[in-house]
Amino acid sequence: MRDIEISAATSIVVLTGAGISQESGLDTFRDAGGIWARYDIDDVATPEGFRRNPPLVHDFYNEQRREAAIARPNPAHVALAELEKAWPGRFLLVTQNIDGLHEKAGSKALFHMHGTLDGFLCEACGKRGPWKGDMSSASICPLCGTKGALRPDIVWFGEMPYHMPEIYRALGEADLFLSIGTSGTVYPAADFVREARQAGALTVELNLEASRRGHGLFDIEIEGKASECVPAFVHDLLKGRRP
Ligand code: NAD
Repeated sequence: MRDIEISAATSIVVLTGAGISQESGLDTFRDAGGIWARYDIDDVATPEGFRRNPPLVHDFYNEQRREAAIARPNPAHVALAELEKAWPGRFLLVTQNIDGLHEKAGSKALFHMHGTLDGFLCEACGKRGPWKGDMSSASICPLCGTKGALRPDIVWFGEMPYHMPEIYRALGEADLFLSIGTSGTVYPAADFVREARQAGALTVELNLEASRRGHGLFDIEIEGKASECVPAFVHDLLKGRRP
């Protein structure tokens, strides 16, 4: 196993997925009974699906937005916000989640690589902005006034995730990479661990079950519920204990 010294200079990059929000009551995608067991990816998470049936796609994200609006961050979200606040070195949190729970927990150094439920993207003026409440084909762009051109500010399959240059720069300088609650099936996020390894980072996965056991991608695999293993891991890190 590779070894790193934990010090004030240690640069940390964290990637989170749907698993970190599961204990906040939000469904994951690929677990049994998850979102993809009930909906077809092509229908609700592609630009083509949106063009085919805008009301279906709006209904899908309206339901998710309503659920996310009442969800509360769990101890895993809170621990990451505390780590960011207390960490003397560089820290970046990259989330694939669109639910806004990291912000509710207080995270600031945060990129939503797949967009957010609390945003709109206007296909008429190309601009993005904050959005609250339901969206429909009758919604009006707050910026250009066009009716019927809004979509949720979500990165769909086949589209380029946000903030990629900044994320790759941080991965290239990382000393410690944490992957939390993600199945490692959606690219490019699934490759971040390889980027971090190439940069010499120690790579750690915290997940209910190791997602890619035997692939030699993670130096350390910690299995357990995010609400339990993430706070324990962060506590040790802040006490200066090596992972
Ligand atoms: P995924 O459903 O593919 O994988 C979830 C992972 O979390 C699995 O490996 C599972 O073992 C693990 N997990 C489940 N419950 C857990 C728990 N309590 N503690 C720790 N780990 C747990 O999700 P993914 O890898 O994030 O897939 C990527 C896509 O899912 C992204 O595009 C993202 O936008 C989307 N997504 C987001 C949300 C959200 O915003 N809350 C919800 C569903 C899907």
